Amino acid sequence: MQRKPLIVGNWKCFKTVAEGRQLAREIRDGATDISDVDIVVAPPHTGLAAVGEELSGADIGLAAQNVHWEPPGAWTGEIAAEQLLDAGCGYVIIGHSERRQFFGETPGTVNRRLRRCLETNLIPIVCTGETQQERESGQAKEVILGDLDGCLDGLTASQLSRMIIAYEPLWAIGTGLTATPEMAQQVHEWIRSWTASEYSPQLSSRVRILYGGSVKPDNASDLMGQEDIDGALVGGASLDSKTFLGIVQFESG
Ligand code: PEP
Repeated sequence: MQRKPLIVGNWKCFKTVAEGRQLAREIRDGATDISDVDIVVAPPHTGLAAVGEELSGADIGLAAQNVHWEPPGAWTGEIAAEQLLDAGCGYVIIGHSERRQFFGETPGTVNRRLRRCLETNLIPIVCTGETQQERESGQAKEVILGDLDGCLDGLTASQLSRMIIAYEPLWAIGTGLTATPEMAQQVHEWIRSWTASEYSPQLSSRVRILYGGSVKPDNASDLMGQEDIDGALVGGASLDSKTFLGIVQFESG
């Protein structure tokens, strides 16, 4: 099964509105000839509408970094799916490790947010991964598949077919440490086999599984060359257009 590569830039809590516009324009202008890779950018909430405007007419998707599990209402500090759709979003990053580590996100809340995305036709990019200690103690497989089991609890095959999974080892996020391509491939293979046995092999062969953790232009091609790695979720290296476009053009790397 041929899965189209997808590169997602997670801008985290960086960029003013003006800086976001500028970065979006640079990515848009640098990506005009790229049609064999899907591109998505995830600015902070304040930049979504402006970045969406800059990208209008370009084949580049817009993602938010979180969504509330309830419709609009009295939820101070949250953002609703309807508001994200209004700002032009098509995707949402759900359950990023920084949300889990610093803001109390759990598999249960991830599951609720996923359901809300699927109900409102936002495509969720659900993140999972292990800590260094879990890897060193040989628990990575159990932790990752256990986490997915909780995050996707009760979701149907048709719902999974509208989702993207991102494997992000916590020890590789923002640290400069990257999983070797073989190490990442092994986890992607565990995830794909898990989706095959929990859902179906046909569906599993269509699900895009991204790798995230210190992806750079010089390691992107080796990572993306692995059979079950279908793209990247990029943090730090997505904040500069030249570097991000270098990753998007991994095939020429
Ligand atoms: C991320 O934020 O999802 C990420 C992978 O960050 P970095 O690329 O900086 O490691």
